[in-house]
Amino acid sequence: MPCQIFTLMCRGTTICHVATSGLCIRRQTVVTEIEGDIDSIPLHSFEFVNFKDLRSRCGNNSLLTDVLGHVVDVREIEGVKKRSRLLEICNASIRDLRGKVVGVTLYRDIASGFFEDMLEKGQGASVVAVFTGMAVDSSSSVCSTTSSEYYLDLEIPEVQEFRANLLIQQGNPVPEKTPAQKLAESWRTIEQLKSLDPEEYDEDTMFLCRVSLIDIDCSNGWCYLGCDTCQKSMYGAPRKYKCARCGPIKRPVQWYKLKAKVEDATGTMDLIIFCEVAEELVGVSAKELVDNIEEDDEWYALPEEIEDLIGSTHTFQVFDKYVNGSFAVRSIMDDASVPPPAGAASDCKEKADPEGSQKPSKRLRGDDDSIN
Ligand SMILES: [Zn+2]
Repeated sequence: MPCQIFTLMCRGTTICHVATSGLCIRRQTVVTEIEGDIDSIPLHSFEFVNFKDLRSRCGNNSLLTDVLGHVVDVREIEGVKKRSRLLEICNASIRDLRGKVVGVTLYRDIASGFFEDMLEKGQGASVVAVFTGMAVDSSSSVCSTTSSEYYLDLEIPEVQEFRANLLIQQGNPVPEKTPAQKLAESWRTIEQLKSLDPEEYDEDTMFLCRVSLIDIDCSNGWCYLGCDTCQKSMYGAPRKYKCARCGPIKRPVQWYKLKAKVEDATGTMDLIIFCEVAEELVGVSAKELVDNIEEDDEWYALPEEIEDLIGSTHTFQVFDKYVNGSFAVRSIMDDASVPPPAGAASDCKEKADPEGSQKPSKRLRGDDDSIN
């Protein structure tokens, strides 16, 4: 690390928080009192990260993150055992102005402090909270570190602006859409999927599309060995019977990973079809097909059962886990129960027509966890 000299200015007893690195005051550190216009030094300085951008900070412990949001849930303090010590934790949720919710887990003193402060504010209170120096657990959760702090309804421009917009939103509530309405609005053609604005959706957003399978690329095979529980690939697993995510497992399982090319009237695109979804399409498990393999090169050729899918048309619910334009199938929809496209997207109306469906009685799948 190059040596850097910082001039750190702070007022009074304010806790200074440096967002991206720790701050060490050593013997050589010189603390100088300054005179004059100290009011021009802000009491707080944060680097707020948009909820959408938390994904890029997942698991990166060298970055501390500041977030701000409307507190929508505060849970009771819980005691959690960690290394034979009892830790107090408080789970809460904050929401941004786009409606995205992020889970906040606070440990130790900051947990009880936050819980009590929120209790004091009262149940009906609309509180905007700032959490600083947080670690990002996942794209939708953060947890406190030893340098974390929280501030409720802080008088800073960012919070004031947030609160003003929140008040506008609360004054003009948008009626909550029914799941059927949301589904009907999620129809997209391939052309539309390919030109989505990454700002307009996230990894949980589901889209409906009606497409025909025109090819399945098996040059890298059509299955993989994965965890029997979470389906994570065993490639790079710590041991043969140990999943990097779940720990020791009974035995790895062969799962499908079909790299399909699909088309509709507007174009073509690649779609990955994993595990149980693929099994539902193919009609037999990957294990059964693997058991039939006799020659090594069969790993890189399509078994008849998979090849038969080419030319079939389906309504898929697809998602883009990394919001980078590579979509995977979440579920195969039942054409009889899937709603027609909502008004504006009428150009894909004909694609909602169940006519031409080759597998018309697919069940609607639940919200399985995505793969890997
Ligand atoms: Zn696993």
